[in-house]
Amino acid sequence: MPWIDQENCTGCGICAYKCPVNAISLKMEKADINMAECIRCGICHDVCPQDSIRHDREKVSEKINDNVEMTKQYMELCARYIGDVQEKRKCLDRMRKHFSSQKMIAERTLIELEKLENN
Ligand code: SF4
Ligand code: SF4
Repeated sequence: MPWIDQENCTGCGICAYKCPVNAISLKMEKADINMAECIRCGICHDVCPQDSIRHDREKVSEKINDNVEMTKQYMELCARYIGDVQEKRKCLDRMRKHFSSQKMIAERTLIELEKLENN
């Protein structure tokens, strides 16, 4: 999924002009994508002269760090609000199950997407 490197965007508007579904607008002279409208066509990646429209795989490390930090926060909050340090371990187990489910969903989705190859 596309995202805008705001630091690099010059606000030229080429991506907004070329987007086939008008999902891109300029806000404060920077491109902004309405992901609810975006159809993932990839045109904006190809037309940006600044290479400012980036792919979400570039945020993998950032997202992993966010997930770890979120888990640490939930662990602390569980212990604090339930008043039992053992709750940290239980919370960690729940978060493991959550991310295992996400992994299963992604893996099975990829298998289903393979079947679309000949559509
Ligand atoms: S084409 Fe690139 S530099 Fe121009 S507005 Fe879009 S993202 Fe910004
Ligand atoms: S991927 Fe396609 S639909 Fe989505 S913002 Fe870029 S040009 Fe528009």
